[in-house]
Amino acid sequence: MKQISSFLLKGNYDYPASFRIIEILGIIAFTVFCILLYLQLISPFGHTMPNWLSLALISLVLLAYFTADFISGFVHFLGDTFGTPETPVLGPGFIKPFRDHHTDPQGIVRHDWIEVNASNCIVCLFILIPVYFFVPIHTSTIGYLTAFYLMMVVLFILCTNQFHKWAHMEKPPVLIAALQKMGLILPPDHHNVHHTAPNDKYYCITCGWMNSFLFKIHFFEFSEKVIRKIFPDRTKRKA
Ligand SMILES: [Zn+2]
Ligand SMILES: [Zn+2]
Repeated sequence: MKQISSFLLKGNYDYPASFRIIEILGIIAFTVFCILLYLQLISPFGHTMPNWLSLALISLVLLAYFTADFISGFVHFLGDTFGTPETPVLGPGFIKPFRDHHTDPQGIVRHDWIEVNASNCIVCLFILIPVYFFVPIHTSTIGYLTAFYLMMVVLFILCTNQFHKWAHMEKPPVLIAALQKMGLILPPDHHNVHHTAPNDKYYCITCGWMNSFLFKIHFFEFSEKVIRKIFPDRTKRKA
C-alpha cells in the first residue's frame, strides 16, 4: 500500500507532489472523456456499418497517424527553437524538458508511465472536451467523421511520448522492437538523426513518417523564419 501511494503521489523522481497530482487528475479526465466519446461514436451503428464508412474510418486512422506525427514534430520544433527554460510561463514546463532531453537523452527512459504520458493527456483534453460537447456526432456525417478523426489523433498523440521513450531504450520489449524495425513506431536509428548536433531536423517523434518529407521541403527552416518575422521581439536565437 505504501509503495502504491508512493508511486501515485511522488513517482520515482524528485518533482513536486502537487504536479504529480495534477498529472494523475489529467490522466483520469483524459480516460473519462475518451470513454464518453467512444460510447458516442459506437452508438449510431451497433454491429452493422456500411462498407463506405468502414473504408472512410480506416483512411481517417491513417490520416490521424500522420497528423499526430506532424503535431509531435511541430510542438517539438517550437520547444527546441524558441525561448529558454527561463522564459516566463512556458519556460519551466514546456521548453525545459525539450532542452534537457538533448543534454540527457536517456533521462526519458528513467521516467515512469505517468511522468512520460500525463502532459500529453492534459494537452489532449483541449481537443477531447470541445469535440465531446460541440461536435454534432449523431446529426451530421461530417460531424461523426470529424469526431472520429480527432479521437484517433488524440490517441496517437498519447502514444507519442511512449514511442519516443521506447526509441531511447537499449532493450525495448520484443514486440516493440519488432514494430520499430518495421517502422510502424519511431525507430531508434531514425530518431538518432534528431539527436545529432545541431538537433534541428527530424523533429517528428510518433512514427517519424513525416520527417523525410518535412526535411526535403525545408518546412521547419521556413516556419522558423516566418515565426521570427511575426514575433521579432519574442523569439530569441538558440544559444
Ligand atoms: Zn529535440
Ligand atoms: Zn529523443
